[in-house]
Amino acid sequence: MNIIIFGPPGAGKGTQSNFIVNKFKLFQLSTGDLLREEIKKKSDLGNKISSIVNSGALVSDDIINTLIENIVSNEKYKNRIIFDGYPRNLTQAENLTNLLKKYNQKIDIVIRLQVSLDVIKKRITGRMVCSVCGSIYNEFFNPPKNDKPCCIKENLKKRTDDNVDVAVKRYETYEESTEPVLDYYAKLNLVKNVNGETEIESIYNKISEYLSVIEGWLWIITPYKYAFKLIPKKLWPE
Ligand SMILES: [Zn+2]
Repeated sequence: MNIIIFGPPGAGKGTQSNFIVNKFKLFQLSTGDLLREEIKKKSDLGNKISSIVNSGALVSDDIINTLIENIVSNEKYKNRIIFDGYPRNLTQAENLTNLLKKYNQKIDIVIRLQVSLDVIKKRITGRMVCSVCGSIYNEFFNPPKNDKPCCIKENLKKRTDDNVDVAVKRYETYEESTEPVLDYYAKLNLVKNVNGETEIESIYNKISEYLSVIEGWLWIITPYKYAFKLIPKKLWPE
């Protein structure tokens, strides 16, 4: 199974990706990481990338494609990739389809984490840190529970709202650039929308459910009353 996960900045995409990677034993492909690793290797390509990045220019789609092909063509990662933050535009999406096809693979599912701009703003503006113990709260989603005497109004500090503008801008850029990409995958019937405004665990369970179906996992009733467990196909009971 190859997956793409989309979500606006601040939607918790990183957290969810990490869960999925661990549970389903996937390789998390981030183009930023691939670029950094290639530079570190000091290969010819790495040195080329390094000089492009240092000049402030953008790395071309060709180079990104080469790096992605190195992973896609590797037997070790066959049908075990989660694409994180890629593709960012229609050309890249089409490139990816062709590249996967070349190695007899495809994208099986596109997870789209949905969080409204309003909630993202509240996650930022509602953030409070206790200046005494360092506990982090959110005025809207996670207010202090009165269990620590120091976490009172006088000690709870908010950051200024400057970063809200930045977040709004990033959100809008995300929406604009991913819309055509999501349309592309929607036409292929691959997009599953997941509400990213609920608890981290229920988001994870929802995503897990979708992926388990693709992996052919099965819910079984465990010996414990009312308890269900997901197991991989190879462990299915006869
Ligand atoms: Zn405190």
